[in-house]
Amino acid sequence: MSNQQVCCAQCFKLNSVSLGPFEPAPSCTFCQKPIFTYQSIAGTSENFETLVLQSDIPVIIDFWAAWCSPCISFGSVFEQAAASWEPRVRFVKVNTEINTDLSEQLNIRNIPAVILFNKGKEVVRQNGAMPINMFDQWLETQVTLLEES
Ligand SMILES: [Zn+2]
Repeated sequence: MSNQQVCCAQCFKLNSVSLGPFEPAPSCTFCQKPIFTYQSIAGTSENFETLVLQSDIPVIIDFWAAWCSPCISFGSVFEQAAASWEPRVRFVKVNTEINTDLSEQLNIRNIPAVILFNKGKEVVRQNGAMPINMFDQWLETQVTLLEES
């Protein structure tokens, strides 16, 4: 498998790594820490470019806010999925109250909302919370389509 460009979860620098079921978990060339943490990463307008737009692996973003109770319950579903899906998909959470610029730019009207990005482009978005089995199934369908194209 050829190398893929992914962002380090700790220092947000881009690394070129070989990903696959038989590859060891990659460490960052710059900070030496693990590139994947199997948890969501807080997305901001500062790291959006390297974390989302320049990623060679698909990125799923959860847009949320602390006052939104469906967001909080979906948040635990999202974390559960992150633990099982990384490094096939990268998991990012954007707090819409802190990152109003990103939320406006991406036209977020209702939360929770998830957007799947691939190679710098929005592929699909979904509004509303989902239980884990539905979210897993939705991701499987979308990501399989991307991997086959
Ligand atoms: Zn790093």
